[in-house]
Amino acid sequence: HLTLGDKLAARLGANVETRSVRAVDGVTLRVAKGETLGIVGESGCGKSTLGRMMAGIMAPTSGTVRLKGEPVMVNGRKATTTIQTVFQDPFASLDPRMRVGDTILEGPLAHGLVRPRDKGEALARALTEVGLDPSLSARFPHQFSGGQRQRIAIARALAMQPEVLICDEPVASLDVSIQAQIINLFLELRQRLGLTIVFISHDLAVVRHLADRVAVMYLGRVVEEGPIGDVYDAPKHPYTRGLLESVPKIALDDGGRVDIRPIRGEIPSPLSPPPGCNFNPRCPIAVERCRRDDPALRPLGPARAAACHLAEPVAPVAAGDTVAAI
Ligand code: SF4
Ligand code: MG
Repeated sequence: HLTLGDKLAARLGANVETRSVRAVDGVTLRVAKGETLGIVGESGCGKSTLGRMMAGIMAPTSGTVRLKGEPVMVNGRKATTTIQTVFQDPFASLDPRMRVGDTILEGPLAHGLVRPRDKGEALARALTEVGLDPSLSARFPHQFSGGQRQRIAIARALAMQPEVLICDEPVASLDVSIQAQIINLFLELRQRLGLTIVFISHDLAVVRHLADRVAVMYLGRVVEEGPIGDVYDAPKHPYTRGLLESVPKIALDDGGRVDIRPIRGEIPSPLSPPPGCNFNPRCPIAVERCRRDDPALRPLGPARAAACHLAEPVAPVAAGDTVAAI
């Protein structure tokens, strides 16, 4: 029920030598109620920009982000409280001079979601929800561990009674064992509260644990989309294949990272994307056409799509199959 308009394009870094960078270019994504959509890609692929636009923090230069049909931004300002965000670094997002209880209640009180006389109860509920002892609410952020601070950031988001949570690398700065705890918390909250979650991460293993569907981004575009198991088991885009081969298949709580085979080549500058397919300079199976024609994201079967000339359909493509991005 979260729809990004059909020609969503954000121009960032306004004018670099009179040219502007399209951090996100022509992306359409739909997220159904109660679903968790993972957005993966290397750093700089535009996934954070996309997340900020979905959250109503940043306006696209064209296109509209809608929640249940209503624009999430009106006149350049976020127009809804039902989309909340959780970012990578909870220390940066929590005011160090505020008691965490005040931080959590600030938004709900300002928006009339909690009456002043119900503060204590609302705070206890918010902290319990994320597995923290309500008696800690008078403490300051520095008195908590990284994992606890992320729980506080999640409690602050939940206190706004959101329907949609946009999470950008919410476990990236945590130790692996703590990552698993926070991921379990997301799984639990999704089930208990029926939350819709957009989970942005460079970590494919983390996304596999959480997401129902995944969108793979490269240079500001979605290059592949589909149900998480289908995409991970049988990727259709060479970039997705490369990403999956570049991480060892280890369990999340297994500790270290070994045997990484990175994708060859560098990510091109978004200022001068290559002609034809954006991925062609790095693609191991590129053909002549790839240097000339830019592949559109096209349906390859039920709920699957990829932007590659050589991607084969997974099943006969039916008339009603949705193209996930344009
Ligand atoms: Fe590779 Fe060509 Fe497919 Fe692009 S269109 S991913 S270059 S095969
Ligand atoms: Mg990012």
